[in-house]
Amino acid sequence: MRLANFLGGFQEDASWIRAMFEKGRDLKASLGAEHVADLSLGNPLQAPDQRVLNELVRVVADPTAHGYTSNLGLDETRDAISAYLKGKSGIPFQRAHVAVVAGAAGGLVVALRALADQGETVGVFSPYFTEYPFYAKALGLHFESQALAPPFIPTLEDARRLMKKKPRVVLINSPNNPTGQVWGNEAYAAIRQAIDELGPKDRPDVVFDDPYAEIVYDGLTPPFPLSEIPQALYISSFSKTWAIPGARVGFLAVHPDNPLAVQAMDAVAFLMRALGFVSANASAQRMLARVGVGNVHPELALYEKHRDMLVHGLLSLGFRFVVPRGGFYVFPDVPEAFQDDICFVSRALADGLIVVPGRGFGDASRFRVVFSVSQETICRAIEKLQNVLHNPGPKR
Ligand code: PLP
Repeated sequence: MRLANFLGGFQEDASWIRAMFEKGRDLKASLGAEHVADLSLGNPLQAPDQRVLNELVRVVADPTAHGYTSNLGLDETRDAISAYLKGKSGIPFQRAHVAVVAGAAGGLVVALRALADQGETVGVFSPYFTEYPFYAKALGLHFESQALAPPFIPTLEDARRLMKKKPRVVLINSPNNPTGQVWGNEAYAAIRQAIDELGPKDRPDVVFDDPYAEIVYDGLTPPFPLSEIPQALYISSFSKTWAIPGARVGFLAVHPDNPLAVQAMDAVAFLMRALGFVSANASAQRMLARVGVGNVHPELALYEKHRDMLVHGLLSLGFRFVVPRGGFYVFPDVPEAFQDDICFVSRALADGLIVVPGRGFGDASRFRVVFSVSQETICRAIEKLQNVLHNPGPKR
């Protein structure tokens, strides 16, 4: 066997989140789970809604429910998703504008492949979700990022700088992983303007990655991205909002006014096959149609409580960061006693505290912690952080 050359360096590079997750498992086995505080992985906090579980049980027991579905998904599921999107945005979505995909991740690789040819560039603002460069690499696409300064919301100047990197596709994520920032109309207007300033042939397409769409705090109601940039592809997922990341189900939508809507959905259907998904998980599709897509929502008050606990703990220890308004994460600066993110993360690991180095998100001066963990874990993590700060060890 010979592994493909393009994989070179993948192992070392491979998602820091996963690497930390694996380390966490090893630490729990050796130290005992009660001595470890694992703030590495963004698993949802609450159990899935009882209606979701009941329908999944019913579907799984139905012997007629396990065949292939069409590549774009079951009609009833696409209807349920388009009705939900229509209710949320006022845009007249119909079945034809929606595909069911294998989570946001599955939707993203389909969308990127639908829009970019090999060697073309995917452009993102950094910090960005760790998996983005890997999606690009696996598809033979070039990856470029434009760094954002706190508060991590792009200005017109940031958007113009990103356009200078000549992206074929601009990939956007708000509420953002890892910063927790939620972009308003101004950010989308800045991106729209920077794109419009380019000649028609140079204008990139936009892909929205929106798995945290409903997970926003402080009473915020973020704009619906396709209302802001109607030519874009929109991707969201039930992983976080319905607490079912293992079900691998999400959706991709095009604006009904998009003149290429039909061709885009044909491309999606083709790529669901050509990339080997065939379709999203059939049981999850049936469950979604039976429950009704607008009928389940995340327990925002619970997440917000955990956000506040972690934020207060970090602030009391002197950490500097922008308070998250959405998602599951805080992205603080590495304290000055440490040379970089790896030094800090390694020191934390020695105390049984698992956090993710910022370099996986394109920013080695910060680290990521999640608050979608139990309150005990947050308290234990704060104690451990205090010890790490008081005993940083020699500066490396
Ligand atoms: N995009 C972002 C920003 C994420 O944080 C995640 C998961 O953590 C995904 C995509 C993938 O989500 P899914 O489980 O729906 O594939």
